Order: sequence, then C-alpha cells, then structure tokens
Amino acid sequence: MTDRFSFDLHATDGAARTGVIHTPRGDIRTPAFMPVGTAATVKAMLPDSVAATGADVLLGNTYHLMLRPTAERIDRLGGLHGFMNWNKPILTDSGGFQVMSLAELRKLTEDGVTFRSHVDGSRHHLSPERSMEIQRLLGSDIVMAFDECPALPADRTRIEDSMRLSMRWAARSRAAFGDRPGYALFGIQQGGLERDLRAESAKALIDIGFEGYAVGGLAVGEGQEAMFGCLDYATDMLPVDKPRYLMGVGKPDDIVGAVKRGIDMMDCVLPSRSGRTGQAFTRHGVVNIKNARHQDDPRPLDEGCSCPACTGYSRAYLHHVFRAKEMISGMLLTWHNLHYFQVIMQEMRTAIAAGTFAEWEAGFHAGRAQGDIDPL
Ligand SMILES: [Zn+2]
Repeated sequence: MTDRFSFDLHATDGAARTGVIHTPRGDIRTPAFMPVGTAATVKAMLPDSVAATGADVLLGNTYHLMLRPTAERIDRLGGLHGFMNWNKPILTDSGGFQVMSLAELRKLTEDGVTFRSHVDGSRHHLSPERSMEIQRLLGSDIVMAFDECPALPADRTRIEDSMRLSMRWAARSRAAFGDRPGYALFGIQQGGLERDLRAESAKALIDIGFEGYAVGGLAVGEGQEAMFGCLDYATDMLPVDKPRYLMGVGKPDDIVGAVKRGIDMMDCVLPSRSGRTGQAFTRHGVVNIKNARHQDDPRPLDEGCSCPACTGYSRAYLHHVFRAKEMISGMLLTWHNLHYFQVIMQEMRTAIAAGTFAEWEAGFHAGRAQGDIDPL
C-alpha cells in the first residue's frame, strides 16, 4: 500500500498501454473499466459482487449525489466509501456533464451553472469551487475538474468558446482542490473534433498540471469512426507518464478501440443498464434474452463464461425471469455483463504485456463476427 497517488506504466504495444495506478485505497490495473455507481450503488449489485467481477474502481456521479442524499449528508455519515460499503478507489465526475444533460432551466455564466434539480425542482449552483468541495465531501479518490461540453455536432465557435471556458475552470479547479496527498485531480481535454483546439486544450491543462488527463467531449453523438479519428491524435497530446481517461465509453468494441489508441481508463453505464433490459454482452456479440428462441434452451448464456449467471442458470431460466419481471433477472445479467467487460480488460492487459495485442484484437473481432450460437 502507498500513501501517494502514482501511475506506473509497465508495458506498451503500439499505442496500447498497461500499468497500475497506485492509490491509498488500492491499486487500479490499467487499462481499467469503471462500473458506474450513480446513486451510491451499482444498480442490482452488492459491492462485494462488483469487486468479484474484477473491478478495481467505481465511478460516482456528483450531480446525482449532490441532489440526493447531498454531499453534506454523505460527509456527516463518514464519506461515500463507508456509506455505500465500497472500500476500493472511487472516481467522481464533476457534475458538469450531467447538469447539461439532466437538469432543468440551466443558466451558464463565467462563474458556473445555476440549474433546477430534475428530482424536485430545487435551485442549485455548481462552479469549479463548489464541484471540488462536493467531491472532497464525498471522499472521492480521483476528482474530475469542472468543465462544460457541447453535444456534437456543434459549430466551431461554440466548441472553441466552451473549451476555453473549461480551461479557465480547470485552473480554478486546480486552485480549489488544494494540496491533498493521496488524492488525484484529473484535467479534461476538450475541443470536439477540432485537432488544433484539442492541442490548445492539452497544452493549457499540462501548463496547469494534473495527476491524470481525461479526453472529454467524445461519445456525445459523433459516432465511433469520428471518435477513433479524434483519439488517433488526442491521446498523443497528453503526457505519457500520467493516466488517460476516456469518459463515458462504451460498447465492448469502443473500449477495445480506445485502448488500442492509448486510453487507460473508461466508464459506462452500458453493462449495468443493458443487464436490466435483457441485453447480454458475450464473446459472440449481443444476446437479447427476451427473445422466444431462448425459452426452451437449457444451455448457458456463454459456456466459456465463469460468472454466476452462466455457471448456475440456463438461457431458459434467464428468459423466464426476465419475462416474469423478477429482480434476479437484472441481477444476473448485470453480473454477467460487468464480468464480461472485466474479462476483456484483463485479456487486454495480458496481451499488451505480452506484445500480442494485435492478435488478441483480431480474435476479439472474429468472435463477435461469428455471432450467437445457433438456436436448438
Ligand atoms: Zn456470464
């Protein structure tokens, strides 16, 4: 264990990297996938079960937690780790992105954003200083700078103005974060799909200095090809010796493509959200468990998977409990999906260390192209 936050890069294979982020609450093996625990829970999962899938770190949402149950209440109750019974590292977002996507009656100024809660209509203000305070009250190990980002497509002027505002907010976030050994503050690169703006943003962040760097403003409607096109140059603009985090990504093939382009950390609600709507991610692509083809099928979802859903239950059972709206349906499929995402991450870490990432990637795509097993 360590009392500092640090990152050790162990191996690279092409642009892909593997290493370890050390924190006082434990190590994070990279590339890392972070399950999302929006409201102080990864929906349908106990914390021990999330850890059992191989997750080293969770993401918590500042916007949701500041509204309910509030950061001050979580602080009084001992912080987010104890509150939700998760003792490994937690990364929190800054609230900026979700204010823009969820809150009502937003008003954006140089100081920050004033908005009404989507829960009860109450009025709130978020600024770089308030976001740092909330994330400190939560006890977050990895804190994100407060930023603003337009949905794509957006015109260049809007992207440019927004990026420069975010860089001013990044400097204020750094100042407000203060000196907190063992905790990390990540800056967020913006600039949409404009290469020169991405470069300007990266330079501004590096001048301020952060413990890690996120690529923000992607996975907001631009499509995979455009996202990969941007990552092809965006990651190169960031320091080699600091973790790089791609926010809000993604589907398994998005994750693999991002790792290939030098990303170390990702988060997404997809495995948990899809688990609750009857969608399973497997080596052979997506399986919709609600389909009638599964109702008499005694075979597991994925015979190569070691998760509880695949070792203990048939497709017929998973189909039945989904149709019957039993809670165990979301529990089992969420566990399977989180397990599968972590298997991909572990396989990529191993392949990068061995210098066999290209072969691994070819196998990953071949498995998906094969499609689901034939119906009985
Ligand atoms: Zn499974």
